[in-house]
Amino acid sequence: MNSSKKEVIKFAKMLNDKKLSALRSGNISLRHKKGFLITPSGQKYSSLKEKDIVFINLNGEYNKNHKPSSEWRFHQDIYNSKKKAKAIVHSHSTNATALSTHNKKIPSFHYMVALAGGIDIKCAKYATYGTRELSKNILKALKNRSACLIANHGQIAFGRSLKDAFELAEEVDNLAKQYIKALVLGRPKLLSLNEMKKVLSKSKTYKRD
Ligand code: 13P
Ligand code: ZN
Repeated sequence: MNSSKKEVIKFAKMLNDKKLSALRSGNISLRHKKGFLITPSGQKYSSLKEKDIVFINLNGEYNKNHKPSSEWRFHQDIYNSKKKAKAIVHSHSTNATALSTHNKKIPSFHYMVALAGGIDIKCAKYATYGTRELSKNILKALKNRSACLIANHGQIAFGRSLKDAFELAEEVDNLAKQYIKALVLGRPKLLSLNEMKKVLSKSKTYKRD
């Protein structure tokens, strides 16, 4: 438990250090036993201690003396619906958030979009933070994908480990930045469905670690 909590704290602090989410915005979780460990609500990452990390089981039950992230519902729903999800990173990264305010998906303007598992990166419909409605919208946008934007809010990425999920979140923000720049010049040329299918089958063997 302690080394898993340490891991959650390490990556939560990285949200600040790598400028993926400022101060206390965003949240991070790691699948653990029959549930998951998640960052607390509204606490600056720089002050996180092991005792602040909350265990929630897959039925959404936790010790009521603790205050888990307000977004524990979408973390719970992702772990329950996606076996491959071992860790989740939710951030208000600047570029993904800017794009999300236009309720825009990231289309196949660059082949790296395939890193999230499909031909585009969808944008989940807006709902109030912390609600089951938001979680439902997110699950829809994550169908066959491991990342999505969240309208007027930010982005989510999941992976086989926190390292994996964090790296994907960084890639999503980078793609959002490139796409915004491309849009300044007009309408970028998109890659065809056929080409994206080729990239998707190649990318299965792309990563080494
Ligand atoms: P928490 O501090 O409750 O995790 O909220 C941060 C956030 O990003 C809400 O969407
Ligand atoms: Zn948020």
